[in-house]
Amino acid sequence: RLVLGIETSCDETGAAVLDETGQILGESLHSQKEVHLRTGGIIPTVAQQLHRENIERVVHEALQRSNVDADQLSAVATTVKPGLALSLGIGLEFSQRFVRKHNKPFIPIHHMEAHALTVRMLQPVAFPFLVLLVSGGHSLLAVARGVDDFLLLGHTLDEAPGDTLDKVARRLSLIKHPQCSTLSGGQAIELLAKDGDRTRFRFRTPMGQTHNCCFSFAGLRNQVTMAIMKKEAEEGIRQGSLLSCVNDIAAATQHTIASHLAKRTHRAILFCKANSLLPERNPTLVLSGGVASNQYIRKALSIVTEMTGLHLLCPPAKFCTDNGVMIAWNGVERLREGKGILPPDVDVFYEPKAPLGADITAEVEAAAIRLPS
Ligand code: ATP
Ligand code: MG
Ligand code: FE
Repeated sequence: RLVLGIETSCDETGAAVLDETGQILGESLHSQKEVHLRTGGIIPTVAQQLHRENIERVVHEALQRSNVDADQLSAVATTVKPGLALSLGIGLEFSQRFVRKHNKPFIPIHHMEAHALTVRMLQPVAFPFLVLLVSGGHSLLAVARGVDDFLLLGHTLDEAPGDTLDKVARRLSLIKHPQCSTLSGGQAIELLAKDGDRTRFRFRTPMGQTHNCCFSFAGLRNQVTMAIMKKEAEEGIRQGSLLSCVNDIAAATQHTIASHLAKRTHRAILFCKANSLLPERNPTLVLSGGVASNQYIRKALSIVTEMTGLHLLCPPAKFCTDNGVMIAWNGVERLREGKGILPPDVDVFYEPKAPLGADITAEVEAAAIRLPS
């Protein structure tokens, strides 16, 4: 059985064909990263136009590379939520025309469910497991209990950590930095932080007094911006031209984000243990999303998992970011269980906002679990 997966929820146009064992027969990915880097952020109409220009080619390339005819497919799986409305619309519209033309079942995919399940394509990981997803658009902690069965323990109340890193990088004009001109904000900050002293700037770890598993990064970004403004004023220089202490600011920002993620995850693990939500044998934390490729953040989480006796799994970077492969894999998993498979003629709508699974964030907060100091 073969599944074609299509992804257009944000800024990558991706397609891939997988067989039911998870072998990638062929894939194609067009990233808009460079364009958005130049405009200093994603402009939805620009993203939509780029998806429109590339979707046909990307899908056909994936089919061609896998040596598969549309007629040989068992189903088409496409991201329909959550994401940018204009971007989701292009992939969905293309897919609905495609499945009708070739008379194939359609599997609508939740983008975060796909991120959470990708690890199972690479190695056997049994349900239930804990997952921390951190990217440019999301930050969440959930228990994956089954292919379409998630408990949402926490999510971001404002922005996502990747977004924060991108905005701090932009405020520091890191794109003009010789080493960073082609890097995303998160990559630039990780690189600069290597030569920085994280103790020269002190930022408060967010939500220290709130004993739940939610995240907040907007306040941290504000603290960082204030520190940058102060330095710029002291040195009497133009906005975004700071050079002297960018490494230290990068290191402190990265450290605070890592510490916030580690603390929320630590509490989530304790909550899971108190409520027997994870197996006694080999309990696992899966870390994924674009921000998960950050080594400093991985290290911080590995300290937490070691302390609590969990096994930490983190897919290689190319499977942590958006692509067609993860969507196709989610399709394979759903096809195998016969979950959410629609006939080609059913009208499906996209949903820009869609929580993952059952939201138990209030229950987690009510448990008011305190972390050992
Ligand atoms: P989403 O998956 O939520 O729809 P997205 O497309 O922005 O959004 P990804 O493609 O998974 O998410 O990841 C991109 C984000 O990851 C960017 O914000 C980028 O700054 C961040 N990122 C990439 N590499 C690193 C790194 N080494 N350290 C920290 N952040 C990183
Ligand atoms: Mg992306
Ligand atoms: Fe994503």
